Amino acid sequence: MRKAIFLDRDGTLNPDPGYISDPADFELFPGVPQALARLKKAGYLLILITNQSGISRGMISPQQLELVHQKLQNLLAAESVTLDAIYFCPHHPEYPLHGITECECRKPQPGMILQAKKDFDIDLAASYVIGDRRKDIQIGINAGVRPICIRPQPAPGYENVPTFVSLSEAVDWLLAAAADKV
Ligand SMILES: [Mg+2]
Ligand SMILES: [Zn+2]
Repeated sequence: MRKAIFLDRDGTLNPDPGYISDPADFELFPGVPQALARLKKAGYLLILITNQSGISRGMISPQQLELVHQKLQNLLAAESVTLDAIYFCPHHPEYPLHGITECECRKPQPGMILQAKKDFDIDLAASYVIGDRRKDIQIGINAGVRPICIRPQPAPGYENVPTFVSLSEAVDWLLAAAADKV
């Protein structure tokens, strides 16, 4: 079995202006490629899990999302890092997509993590989920994966969740915490 870091996208890896449809509008926060490289070196799969309801809302096409994710991979490749997989939920309860409103993949539901577990034989207990919103903490709780939060302050009601101002600081903590466990 492999261990993985499940990564939120918007607000965690990149600034979030809302419904990014143009690769030109997609940039990483400083230090993100280097932080991800350290996780990769420590043996973690890097798996993106992102809610992209802009698709069901008609604000982003699947082709545009693909181009944005190519830009993401290109920016990471410059630091010799690759995401091992990208899972996205295109759904929204109020905007039917191919007749679907209720799905099992929209965070905080655990669908994307459970699919990745199947696809990569992941040990969820040895893995972490990193995100900036309550839904990212909650998907960790729902799937049995330890959550880490990237926010200026802990999320109200989740003060016990390790919270850091940047991905780099989160990775410092995670690698030290994982080393302690061995
Ligand atoms: Mg986010
Ligand atoms: Zn979905």
